[in-house]
Formats: sequence, C-alpha cells, structure tokens
Amino acid sequence: MRVPSQLPREEHETFTLGPVCEALDRVEFEGATVDDALDALSGRRPALHEGHRTYVEHVVRQYTSGDPDPGALVPVQPYWAVRKDNGRRWELYAWWRRYESADGRLREYRRLRHGNARASSRGEIAVAAYTAAFGVDAAWPRRWSQEFALRGSPGRVTRVRIVEAGLGDGSRAVQFDGTVAEVRAYYEAHGDAHVRSVVRGGPERPGPGCFDCKQFTGCRAVRRSPGVLALPSRKLPLRKVSISDLRYHAACPAQSLLRSLHLPKTDEYSDAAKLGQAVHGWIEALHRRPGPVPCRRDDMPPQGENWTTGRWRVPDEEAEAGRRMLLHHVDSCPFQFPGPIERVECEPTRVFHDTAAQALVVAKPDLLYREDGSWVWRELKTTRTPPRIGRDPLDTYPQLALAVVLLAQAELGGDPSGSRVELEILRPDGSDPHVIDPMDTERLAKARAVLRRYAGPWREDRAWEARPGGHCRQCPVSRWCPSAQDPADAEEKE
Ligand SMILES: [Zn+2]
Repeated sequence: MRVPSQLPREEHETFTLGPVCEALDRVEFEGATVDDALDALSGRRPALHEGHRTYVEHVVRQYTSGDPDPGALVPVQPYWAVRKDNGRRWELYAWWRRYESADGRLREYRRLRHGNARASSRGEIAVAAYTAAFGVDAAWPRRWSQEFALRGSPGRVTRVRIVEAGLGDGSRAVQFDGTVAEVRAYYEAHGDAHVRSVVRGGPERPGPGCFDCKQFTGCRAVRRSPGVLALPSRKLPLRKVSISDLRYHAACPAQSLLRSLHLPKTDEYSDAAKLGQAVHGWIEALHRRPGPVPCRRDDMPPQGENWTTGRWRVPDEEAEAGRRMLLHHVDSCPFQFPGPIERVECEPTRVFHDTAAQALVVAKPDLLYREDGSWVWRELKTTRTPPRIGRDPLDTYPQLALAVVLLAQAELGGDPSGSRVELEILRPDGSDPHVIDPMDTERLAKARAVLRRYAGPWREDRAWEARPGGHCRQCPVSRWCPSAQDPADAEEKE
C-alpha cells in the first residue's frame, strides 16, 4: 500500500531534479523551446534559488543538446506499468524518463543522475527493463493510494535499452540493451528477488533517508527528540540538517543550500582535509577490530612510506605529518585503559527528529562506545596549527555541542550520569585530549547556546543568500553560484 506523507517538507530539499523535469516536460511534451521552458521556471513559487536555477539551466541545455541521434527516439509521457496479482496486487513502474522509436519497437528509459552517469542496481534495471518490455501506458493516479489507470497493450516492443544520463558532465552510459526475451531472463535472474526484498522490507534502519520516507510521521524507529537543536517550538515544514550543514550555513547560506541539493562539486577536499579523512580511516579500521583492541605503535604506518591511498592520497610530506599524528593516537586511544566496555560503534549514523525545531537531525560521531551502562561520544580532529589557549572546544567544534545535548537528554539511552564527550585533537607534534561532562549545567547551557547560534539563523532562513568573499575560491559549489566572488576580484583585493 502507498501512504502519502503527512508532514509538509520543504520542496527544495525533497526533489532537486523537480525543476529539471518540469522544463524537460515542457520541451518534450508541450513543444516549448528550451529558452521558453527555462523562462517559465521564473513563475515557480517559491522561487528557485539562483544557484539551483544556474544548475537547472546548465543541465537542461546540456541534456537537450546531447542526444547522439536526435529524432531517432520520441519522448513518451505516460508511465509504463505492469500490474501483477498473486494474492496481493502490486504495480511495477519506474520514475525514469521514457523514449521510444517511431515504430514502437524500441523503448528506452533514461535515468537522470547528478554529476556523472553511474550504474543502477541490477534489481532496479531488471524492474525498469521489465516494465519497458511488458508495461502498458499508465497515468499517474490522482491520489497516492489509488492504482494506476492502465490503458492499451504493451504494443510491439522488441528491444529495450536502459541508459544513465549524467547531468553534471553530460555523460551517458548504457546499462542494459537487449531483446524482450533477454529482458525476461534478466528479470527472472535479478528482478524477482529485488521486488521480493522491497515488498518484504526488513527491520527499520533510521538514517538520513527517513526524510523522504512516506512512513516518517508514524514510524516508531525514529527517535523523537524535542529540543536537541535548542530552538523554540515552531510550526514549520520539516528540514534535514547535520552539524556540517550548520557550519556551511554560518559561512555562507547559499553554499549550504547548494550542497544540500547535492549539486556536483569541484575540488571538494584540500590536502589537509584529505589527510584528515585518511587518518580517520586508519584509526577507524583499528577500532573496528573485535575486542576492542587498544591501538599500538606497530599498528601505525611505517616510516618513509606514503601510506595514503585512493581518494585520500596526499603528497609525501603531508602523509609523513599524518603518520606522526597517528603515532600520537596510541597514547590517547580510548581502549588503552578501558573500563568495562559493552559496545563499540565506529562512525555510526544516528538520526533524531527534533519535534520542536521540526528538523531531522543527522549525527555521525567518529566513535560511540558504551562503558558501564553509559555512552561515550568521541570526536577526532586533525590539525597542523598549534593549540590556541583558552579557546572553548564547544565554540570551535559545534558537533561537540550537539553531542553534549544528546547525551544530557539521554537520547541514546543508557545512564546519562556516566556519559561524557571526548575530543582528541591530533597534531604532528602531540595530541590534546578534552573531556566534557554533559551533566555539568554550565557546559550544557553553553552547548545549547552554541547550537542556538548556528541553528537559529538556519531554521529562519528562506532566502539562502550568498555571502561572497575569499572563501568562494575553496567553495566546491561556487561554480553554480552567480554571486560567487570572481577570482580576479579577489586577487585585486589581496
Ligand atoms: Zn585507538
């Protein structure tokens, strides 16, 4: 059964591709020119953010000019749906854009992807191919809970193609290309199992995806945690937020919006940020060993070897600084002299529905462990700058403030009186441990003040205005931002 969502969500956060599809629908089904279709987006309420609009214009122009064989396929408006009855009635269909040859023998689905084209799962491909081969035209039901109105017959389809279309770079990748008989075989191999797993579901696993879930309002697996953002109760559309989002918002609201839309990014990580990721990854792998096992010097990378790899590869000199940071972890490893540790979770994702601020708060501690019935929340930071005396870690790292409030309110369960927040700062020449007691009323009040300072302006913001400056040069989404400071202007001012 399909159940409509009951809480209003902010539209821009639910469907970045919405305006892209609207413009393409006008071009493909109403005969509009690309310019007219893009102009029509100005009539949207609420208005599209200027950065989102820049992205939409880019991808619509690229998509409509990128057809390798224009005229060979015509766009198809109705969905293709297959209805099955086997004691229970269900409907197979795909959201993807639909095209067919003039004689109706070839049907093609195109799945639009942010950034570059990448593969769908075999189960998804199997279901889509099956509906292209055997589906009949279907109009979207007027209500979510109603069935599709099916019309006609599958027609003369002999061949099916599934294509992934990358919107950022115009890339296309054919995921499936076969006859109707091949579709049937592929579906039997991969589709049935996929459908069974979707229908059967499984245990709830709360996460960022809860935001888009139709069952969110009634779901018992989502923790309802009023006040974790320390904001007054308001009646507002639900938003999703992490502490990173709040930090980006404090630097530049436009940047936080364009990141939350998952627009393609350029040069997202500096060498320092890559090294931080590499150090985190190394320690995480050690902490995942069953035990837990305390980290030792032997566990760390050997001298004179660049130990960083893949996405987080950094120059040799940076890698050496990282190796020295890792050695300093040995003395501050939380499992060096542990109490009775009952449970360890490395980089877990926890979500909390702040029913006062109407926000789905996504938290990702570096490490959570339960010691003698109480949770310990640990964050690890890497830096090459010397410590600044007298600076409150709650001001520097707002995720600690969220950790303090969550533990103080016992949102993770357990006994809050024994809980603590630990911060480990690794430098090439040493490490600084900090411990915060969430039951300390002054610390808790400070943590709430920090959260209010970050979350208050974010919750009120509806304009997401850019705050251009020198930081635009490092901003990974500035490419989409018409207000971004021109690098030439920045140099003049330096
Ligand atoms: Zn360790």
